[in-house]
Amino acid sequence: MTKGRIHSLESFGTVDGPGTRYVVFVQGCPMRCLYCHNPDTWAMTGGEEMDPEYIFEQYLHNEPFYKNGGGLTVTGGEPLMQVDFLTDLFTLAKEHNIHTDIDTSGIAYKPDNKPFIEKLDKLMELTDLVMLDIKHIDPEKHLELTGQPNDGILAFASYLNEKNVDMWIRHVIVPGLTDDDEYLYKLGYFIGQFQNLKALDALPYHTMGKSKYEKLGMDYKLADTPAMSQKDLLVKKQVILNGIKDRRAEESMPHEDFEVLDNSYVKD
Ligand code: SF4
Repeated sequence: MTKGRIHSLESFGTVDGPGTRYVVFVQGCPMRCLYCHNPDTWAMTGGEEMDPEYIFEQYLHNEPFYKNGGGLTVTGGEPLMQVDFLTDLFTLAKEHNIHTDIDTSGIAYKPDNKPFIEKLDKLMELTDLVMLDIKHIDPEKHLELTGQPNDGILAFASYLNEKNVDMWIRHVIVPGLTDDDEYLYKLGYFIGQFQNLKALDALPYHTMGKSKYEKLGMDYKLADTPAMSQKDLLVKKQVILNGIKDRRAEESMPHEDFEVLDNSYVKD
């Protein structure tokens, strides 16, 4: 089995997928999102190496608590940088019929990398849900916000639809950075075409990451950016929903076949 490079483990996650979940935070991410609240997960060489069996034993230890459709989530960092480890961990989970979920930016998806796609195909057979965090729908703005292009990320959404893997779309709404109505509508219009879209999770930007950067001695570029209020979040979320609705009408798809998550929690 392939060891994972792990940042941390959380026994009772309530904001990382359906129900109560065991959450694995992997180490290593090639993105550099300006609002990232986990810059300590960026380095590919940090963290601690762990066996999938060890992590799965920890899950089993607390299994009775994973209720309401709960299960196992891998987040990060960027989980899809460690496909072999994920496949081994999810193989164990599926042997026990446990719900599996990957929280990802999709940045690792490279459609032309055949060996990677073969591995990914296998992993997707073991994955019940992908929470895809689209940081920005516009290619240039995405590059400015994350330091990476978004073409592979958007292609990953199409790939998940083809594979019929349930998908939640997450989008953090940051005042002045990702709250432009034109782009929010475009985001909705883009994701509206996908039949595997099961939920929209629009998340309000918060300022709790600031102290983490201070502790790490890092410069926080959004030091002057205010938090997104719940009231404004509702308005912005509606713009995304309008895009979804219009696209679904054009494609003659049902409008109400996905959930709009009402998360008042704050998370990056
Ligand atoms: S927010 Fe997620 S994708 Fe972005 S840099 Fe942080 S860990 Fe990576």
